[in-house]
Amino acid sequence: MRSCRDITALMSLGLDKKLGLNERLAIGMHVMMCSGCRNFQSQSQFIRKAAQGYAEQLQKRRDGE
Ligand SMILES: [Zn+2]
Repeated sequence: MRSCRDITALMSLGLDKKLGLNERLAIGMHVMMCSGCRNFQSQSQFIRKAAQGYAEQLQKRRDGE
């Protein structure tokens, strides 16, 4: 069983690169049992989506000029 620290570190890593099957499984198993890490996961995905949308907006604006 991995600790919450390990799991959140893996999640942060997974935002930037593809995780292996074992790592994704470890996260999946952990968030099923741990609501703290589940919250962390949904928050980090939300922030990532927001950041992506912002980057796309900037890119569009740059292309328009
Ligand atoms: Zn946890």
